[in-house]
Amino acid sequence: MSTIDELLDANQGYARTFDRGNLPLPPARRIAILTCMDARILPSRVLGLEEGDAHVIRNAGGRARDALRSLIISQRLLGTREVAVIHHTDCGMLTFNNRELREKVKDDLGSDTGEFDFLPFQDLNESVREDVEFLLATQLLNQDTLIRGFVYDVRTGRLREVDVGATLASTEERAEGQKGGEAITAP
Ligand SMILES: [Zn+2]
Repeated sequence: MSTIDELLDANQGYARTFDRGNLPLPPARRIAILTCMDARILPSRVLGLEEGDAHVIRNAGGRARDALRSLIISQRLLGTREVAVIHHTDCGMLTFNNRELREKVKDDLGSDTGEFDFLPFQDLNESVREDVEFLLATQLLNQDTLIRGFVYDVRTGRLREVDVGATLASTEERAEGQKGGEAITAP
């Protein structure tokens, strides 16, 4: 039995008691969560989300450049107004660089990734800041979007907010809405 078969079994149980088939398409809480694909993070549990509450956009690292397409759709077509960027401790993105992964693809598959940027990073706070700054700077999202960045600790289950004060100082209009908040605690 493949893992997919196991998942199909589990889905039968889920569907048996499913009673949320009438939810509207736009997220009720008007927020998009951007986080890593790491298997240890279950955003619905970490953040207390229910079906219909939020968009959850995931990729390796929870990188903003990779998620922009989805965020534009999330805002323009489905009305979200806040973005939470959540990177995490012990992330796989801290363990390699572009050159190493390009070489591994070449060695394993014989394929050339060219200048493909896998968006790895070496410092968690820095990667969160970089992604929040990228989203604040893009002209493709609402200029009044509330954007905050966090590091999730996979050992404790807690979220710690990353200070993006320097970023906010350079974008005065947004600063009012984003001050404060040393840390918020996940359930
Ligand atoms: Zn990760």
